[in-house]
Amino acid sequence: MNRRQFSRALVAGASAAALPWRFASGQSGLRVDGAVIQEHLAALAEFGKNPEGGVSRVAYGEADRRAREVALGWMREAKLETAIDAAGNLVGRRAGRDPSLKPLVLGSHIDSVPEGGNFDGDVGSMSAIEVSRTLDRAATTLRHPLEVLIFQNEEGGTIGSHALAAGLTPADLDRVAQSGKTIRDGIRFLGGDPDRLDTVQRHRGDIAAYLELHIEQGGILDQRRIPIGVVLGIVGIRHWDVTITGFANHAGTTPMAGRKDALLVAARCIEAVNRIVRGIPGRQVGTVGRIQVEPGAYNVIPGRVTFGLELRDLDDAKVKSLHERIMVECRRLARAGGTTLSERESLAITPALTDPAIRGVISAAARALGLATLALPSGAGHDAQEMARLGPVGMIFVPSVGGISHSPREFTRPLDIENGANVLLHSLLALDAA
Ligand SMILES: [Zn+2]
Repeated sequence: MNRRQFSRALVAGASAAALPWRFASGQSGLRVDGAVIQEHLAALAEFGKNPEGGVSRVAYGEADRRAREVALGWMREAKLETAIDAAGNLVGRRAGRDPSLKPLVLGSHIDSVPEGGNFDGDVGSMSAIEVSRTLDRAATTLRHPLEVLIFQNEEGGTIGSHALAAGLTPADLDRVAQSGKTIRDGIRFLGGDPDRLDTVQRHRGDIAAYLELHIEQGGILDQRRIPIGVVLGIVGIRHWDVTITGFANHAGTTPMAGRKDALLVAARCIEAVNRIVRGIPGRQVGTVGRIQVEPGAYNVIPGRVTFGLELRDLDDAKVKSLHERIMVECRRLARAGGTTLSERESLAITPALTDPAIRGVISAAARALGLATLALPSGAGHDAQEMARLGPVGMIFVPSVGGISHSPREFTRPLDIENGANVLLHSLLALDAA
């Protein structure tokens, strides 16, 4: 038996067990067609294809626009009523039995980073379309209206979903995206209208729930051979620019004793960041990923260094307390090295937690399909963090082989994608019935 037949036998066996929730008759046997998702992923991989085997399909580029046109066609084939909203997002709607209910929303993105892969965003987008096609094939109408959203420019800072959930400012619209176009011009290029963004903005309570399937982009599920990740939330991210000021002087004539070497102090601070972040239990991460040395010459003792500190965790209070401890230690190191320290916070994104009840629904759906789950945070940003402003959200992760992402070597196995899409489908059915 081939892999697909094998997977069918596997899920058929699992669903023979008693199901933990009430399905309308016949729904428990519904399955997506994994082959259709694979066909669409393969077709999508042609847009912006690069020699390394991945794609460079940055938002508002020609490849992005053409891929979105094709995706819109697949949404139509799935019998979704389609539109491009004023923010340039693709919108597909399927009416529910009770028009008074708010929509259940599935979504993700299909833009990529430069030299990206074929799975980040694509898996969730193609699966959302296939879930809708599966409902249509089975002539199943949900109680709630269903919406499939393919957001624009996720990789440039969740721009399309931010337009929906929070609104874009004139300064946001003036920002130059990776393609070289401003966001304002990019929205026009994709068929939106930046002068009518008020028509897309939604408010808290406007959605019944939002679900997103995505590749993990980390290696935990793959290492532990667990097919389904139940995402606890999307971590908050804070950045600080830390400046150490010493005294630039001749590197040949100034004795080693008594130097005020800003880079030497910065090096000790960077080591302290790693030590302090690792010193407590948990999944918090801390990184110094950029550094600027002045004047930056072989023969001059560094007088001024600015380094960028990043901290991420699901708990904002923990991030703040770690930052506090790091700064106490760095100030001590700065004093001991005869230098001074100043800092400036340059980014603050608060964590977005997923809804505990939806996590339960996803876990139960996976269990009914015979799939093991693991609860884990998302260390990367996603459109779901924007949608969490509007209502309860849930996220399903599938394994990334080797934990590789934002790379042409990004890969998720077809069976894992099919399993993830079936969990998406059954989570949707359970939320609809609840
Ligand atoms: Zn993504």
